[in-house]
Amino acid sequence: MSAQAYGWLMAGGGGDLFDRHLFACAATVAMADQGWPLAVGLGLSAEALAALVGEFFPHAPGLLVGLDPDVDGTDPMTADEAALRALLLENRTAGAVEEGWLARIVARRALSPRQLWQDLGLTSRADLSLLLARHFAPLAARNRHDMRWKPFFWREIEAASGMDCRAATKCRRCTHFSHCFGPETGTSLIGTPPAYAP
Ligand code: SF4
Repeated sequence: MSAQAYGWLMAGGGGDLFDRHLFACAATVAMADQGWPLAVGLGLSAEALAALVGEFFPHAPGLLVGLDPDVDGTDPMTADEAALRALLLENRTAGAVEEGWLARIVARRALSPRQLWQDLGLTSRADLSLLLARHFAPLAARNRHDMRWKPFFWREIEAASGMDCRAATKCRRCTHFSHCFGPETGTSLIGTPPAYAP
């Protein structure tokens, strides 16, 4: 079902193809959230969601059914979400409006304990790495040792506030090494891998 929804969003949409893929994956997985309106599942305001749908999925106005302009999906649910959103916004590649949407979406979806690429409904870690390299290039470039993305984000946030874990030990000697480094494998939350692969 999810893969069908993804295929439908991709088939009739507009905008940049890779960005359409990113937003189609996130919308597909967010639509499956129990009890959350789509704007909340994506961390977007009603206005931003309407603009996103108008640009990338003009054939799917059903995504906006029930959209309540008084429900502000941008209210952060946790301090971690607010911090990650700020980190991403500070590190946008071009400052494009789509990158602002992605910053909010990534920060909201990252609240789960899964791999970040799974949270976003993507097909693999490679998809996520490409998202970050394209749209948050200064931040992606700092992950020189290919850390897992969530631990890398938290380390960046903590280091910015003067609590760099690497000041106390080398990563290779750290008891958290296997948490911070290693493959980020799993299955896509939207089922059969989508036909589009960047
Ligand atoms: S392995 Fe240890 S020192 Fe290295 S980033 Fe992770 S927590 Fe910090």
